[in-house]
Amino acid sequence: MKLYNTLSKSVEEFKPQTDKKVKLYTCGPTVYNFAHIGNLRTYIFEDVLRRSLEFLGYSVHHVMNMTDVDDKTIKASRGKQQEFKELTKKFEVSFLADLHNLNIEKPTEITRATEYIEQIVEFVSDLLDKGFAYKGEDGSIYFSIEKFADYGKLSGLDKDGIKSGARVAQDEYTKENPADFALWKAWDEADGEIFWQTKLGKGRPGWHIECSAMSQDKLGDTLDIHAGAVDLVFAHHENEIAQSEARTGKKFVNYWVHAEHLLVDGKKMSKSLGNIYVLSDIEKKGFSPLDFRYLCLSASYRDKLNFTWESLEAAKNALTRAKKILNNHQSVILNEVKDPDSSLPQNDYLDKFKSALENDLNTPEALAVFWNMLRDDKLSAEIKKASALEMDKIFVLDLDKEVSDEIPASVQKLVDERIEARKNKNFELSDKLRDEIESLGYSVEDSGTETKILKK
Ligand code: AMP
Ligand code: ZN
Repeated sequence: MKLYNTLSKSVEEFKPQTDKKVKLYTCGPTVYNFAHIGNLRTYIFEDVLRRSLEFLGYSVHHVMNMTDVDDKTIKASRGKQQEFKELTKKFEVSFLADLHNLNIEKPTEITRATEYIEQIVEFVSDLLDKGFAYKGEDGSIYFSIEKFADYGKLSGLDKDGIKSGARVAQDEYTKENPADFALWKAWDEADGEIFWQTKLGKGRPGWHIECSAMSQDKLGDTLDIHAGAVDLVFAHHENEIAQSEARTGKKFVNYWVHAEHLLVDGKKMSKSLGNIYVLSDIEKKGFSPLDFRYLCLSASYRDKLNFTWESLEAAKNALTRAKKILNNHQSVILNEVKDPDSSLPQNDYLDKFKSALENDLNTPEALAVFWNMLRDDKLSAEIKKASALEMDKIFVLDLDKEVSDEIPASVQKLVDERIEARKNKNFELSDKLRDEIESLGYSVEDSGTETKILKK
């Protein structure tokens, strides 16, 4: 299995520390809002990573966190204890529902920052004892990036840009202003009722320390793989390395794997552009979460993926077509494109599929193999189905489910009205209703007294 490692900036052969056992940590959501489809692209990629490892015979211990205390969660609940609890719970539940609807496997373990305060306090105390951290005059505790010689090794930071002693209190900041970051934030008024009274003082953890404390507690000093999206390389993951390696003196992560962003109409998703979509937005337009999963699989995780409604429509059509071929025996429609390798027996498709995954999770290639397999008229319907189901261990597009051409209630109502109109020989109304039905994407065929409705 080959993976692109952000640390070495090259594609490497993946070798876990222990044979066939993988320690995987992925940064979970900040539960202050609904996850948007950009976030969800990253979780789909991480699901493909985990399932591919399992497909290739590894057993994976996957830990994911919930960031349920940070600047954003506190701000969203205006520092009110009750609101804070309800808010983080509500968005955790909605996030887990999204995972379920996208056929994303639940992590082996989910950890919550608020349940890790004790371990975080110990972690920060160790960094103070070792001289990597110091208390600022505001009472907050900062990590001194100057003290950690390797600072910047993940993101390729220009060390000359580092201003000695400069500090940043916010959880999020950019590579343009690297600075000592807060491990523990002393309470201030904006935090309201959200604080813990500990030996470090009255306050709360910074965001970055949360992931170091939780991942190492569950998986040990060195993880095999740590994944997230590219925006986390700096500062979050750079800071995780600094804290963890300063504490243990050991390498924190062997393979850093990052997914590229989802764009909407070629632009970054942002509130000001009004182009942030959540899963229910796409469902309201008649798409299923798995149409979106298909769309994500059609691009490499290392490429930006441009979301448009047209691309989602194309994904939906492709998925519907595949399901019809596999379940409704319409294999005849597939003969337009012939794969030069169509004489290969079934296993060669599966081998090619496996190779695509081993090649840095090349899902577009895996989908191409899948389609070539479906188009191979030398394969029986049974072999096609068996191979497709094997591939669906990674795709998880419910390829075994039949596509029902159920007529929606709104269309059925028009059909019934039209039958009634025809009975009454009101052909003007019947023609009008036909136009309406057709405008909704259904065709009407009358033969004798029977009326057939088909999806166009
Ligand atoms: P957050 O809930 O903000 O902590 O983000 C959850 C995950 O989604 C993180 O791994 C982010 O890096 C990732 N993410 C944020 N924006 C996008 C985007 N537009 N496309 C893909 N992933 C994103
Ligand atoms: Zn994290």
